[in-house]
Amino acid sequence: MSVLVIGGGAAGMMAALFAAREGERVFLLEKNEKLGKKLYITGKGRCNLTNTAETEAFLGKVFRNPRFLRSALASFDNTAMMSLLEDAGLPLKTERGGRVFPQSDTASDVTRTLEKLLRAAGVGVLLNTEAVSLIIKEKRIRGVITRQNGRIAARPADKVILAMGGLSYPSTGSTGDGFRLAKNAGHTVTETLPSLVPFNASFSEPVRAAGLTPGGLSGLTLKNVSLKLTAGGKKRYEEQGELMFTHFGITGPLVLSASAFAGDCVLKGEPMELSVDLKPALTEDQLDQRLIRDQKEAGRTALSTMLGGYLPRALVPVILAQAGLDGAEKAARLSREERSALIRALRGLIMTDVSLRGFPEAVITRGGVSVREVDPRTMESKLVRGLYLAGEMLDLDAATGGYNLQIAWSTGAAAGRAAGQKEKNMEEEKREERKNRHIAIDGPGSSGKSTIAKLVAKETGLIYVDTGAMFRGMAIHFLRQGLDASDEAGITAACADADVTIAYEDGVQQVYLNGENVTPYLREEKTGQMASASSVYAPVREKMKGLQQKLAREKDVVMDGRDIGTVILPDAYLKIYLTASAEVRAERRYRELLEKGQEADLETIRKELEERDWRDMHREIAPLRQAEDAVRIDSSQMTVEEVKEAVLQLYGREK
Ligand SMILES: Cc1cc2nc3c(=O)[nH]c(=O)nc-3n(C[C@H](O)[C@H](O)[C@H](O)COP(=O)(O)OP(=O)(O)OC[C@H]3O[C@@H](n4cnc5c(N)ncnc54)[C@H](O)[C@@H]3O)c2cc1C
Repeated sequence: MSVLVIGGGAAGMMAALFAAREGERVFLLEKNEKLGKKLYITGKGRCNLTNTAETEAFLGKVFRNPRFLRSALASFDNTAMMSLLEDAGLPLKTERGGRVFPQSDTASDVTRTLEKLLRAAGVGVLLNTEAVSLIIKEKRIRGVITRQNGRIAARPADKVILAMGGLSYPSTGSTGDGFRLAKNAGHTVTETLPSLVPFNASFSEPVRAAGLTPGGLSGLTLKNVSLKLTAGGKKRYEEQGELMFTHFGITGPLVLSASAFAGDCVLKGEPMELSVDLKPALTEDQLDQRLIRDQKEAGRTALSTMLGGYLPRALVPVILAQAGLDGAEKAARLSREERSALIRALRGLIMTDVSLRGFPEAVITRGGVSVREVDPRTMESKLVRGLYLAGEMLDLDAATGGYNLQIAWSTGAAAGRAAGQKEKNMEEEKREERKNRHIAIDGPGSSGKSTIAKLVAKETGLIYVDTGAMFRGMAIHFLRQGLDASDEAGITAACADADVTIAYEDGVQQVYLNGENVTPYLREEKTGQMASASSVYAPVREKMKGLQQKLAREKDVVMDGRDIGTVILPDAYLKIYLTASAEVRAERRYRELLEKGQEADLETIRKELEERDWRDMHREIAPLRQAEDAVRIDSSQMTVEEVKEAVLQLYGREK
């Protein structure tokens, strides 16, 4: 069978190429209309595709989990990447700091070259194709549910490589889908934060009081300045370089680098402060001497005019305000204390209210799928066989300079190579010979189980067993015996001579109790109350299990509930575990209640759902859990029609 690679960015293209070179049939699925949308904007459109740093220096630039990278980098490093592109006809050049670019200074040339290699290797590229859910059975990947031009398809595969990027620059397609899919497969996703990102910041109080803001300096670039980040009384970062003021704060290479060290402060909730040394090349003494000299020469010149020789004009009022000085004062009259205040401001222009800008402006996502759950040699998940992860999805991030793309190339190559290799001595996985064609749908409350079960029954001709209606049929039996809901012993005894079954007449469900059609009484208030109260008794559930199993022996059925795949029909032909995030389920329930004209509060519903999930999952008798061989469908991002289509595809549509 084939290898599916999800995500046509740097890591995905590399993974697909290496898997195909192993001789496997490979499909690369990308939700955008073209491959490598993010690559086009890398390196300001020039694509700084790697860095020539030696391994140790390279790993020194990786902020999180550098050790995890060692093996992938050893088998496909920066020189291997450069050779791959140059051999394919793309000349490269190396610039300051070991940064490697295509000679053409055109990022799209990198994508074009990779596309050429993918074609030559026979990779099938499916554009406008979005992965919506993974198909996992018995802790093994079986395929992916995709949406293409609004149509849902279940695509079987032995191996699936997730290379779906992080959350940064979502306009390029990296919208965090990969994290959702990985979480659903059981993976841990560490806390994510924007990184290599500008800062929101204001000036300190005296400067603000003078009505001055970074926005007022928007566009002003400072070269050869030093930027210091402090938090919790400690220095977190200090480097020299270039920065720029913007309408929200500051940006520029120095600022992006500093942001990688801000994440820890953000996570700890420590307020951050930035300080810009405008004269890092001078010692304090040298600066003092220079000011004294200039003061002497200044004569009647205003202080602000003199400072024009030290700073860009626009910055002069900012420095004066921070130092508490009047720019109209004559420079020559500056006292020693005033000169000290001026030096302090020049050596440390303070910026407060510092915070990171958001993912839309971040070069990289900090955090991701925990590398503890991934094999560093093969990038295979340690939780799901045949599932691989690569690129920015992983909890790896590095400095600017071509390092992040090399992480994508190296992890992509490792995943592709491993996924493309045939598993030796692996027993042929046969689809189990199952004698029935039942569909069991389990899942938490409000996940849409009964809606889907009914729709699927209609399409397949299977009998939909409404377990709620069966409990109500039993309740009628107890009421007719004159039993009270609290009489557990009486109810237990009455179970013995109750036979409830379901039939369809003209397509309408009928419930029979000991041969009598009791459908008209099912909706009575007292029936509902008795059904709900009696269903908590273990003997009633046991009896119901027997009746449901009897029904399933007679006909192929679709049944939904919380223990259908695990307890009632453990050998069902197809088991589905239908779920959705608590937020989405609460939203659905909320809309349902409003449509019925009932009052509802979204937050209360969400809390109730979460409490119910917990109770269902921890109850003693038949707790809610996913059967090992059930296919998990996360319907958070799917419509009812799409879920139905996915189930039908998994079932194979045959009656
Ligand atoms: C402005 C900018 C400039 C940068 N410049 C550089 C640079 O010069 N050098 C450098 O080393 N790094 C740079 N980076 C970082 C670099 O781009 C990333 O590290 C790299 O692109 C990560 O590659 P990836 O394949 O893991 O993820 P991505 O490139 O984000 O690719 C993921 C792909 O998966 C697709 N996808 C997502 N969800 C689905 C789904 N449900 N179904 C199907 N497809 C899906 C997305 O559409 C996307 O195409 C830059 C980043 C930005 C934002």
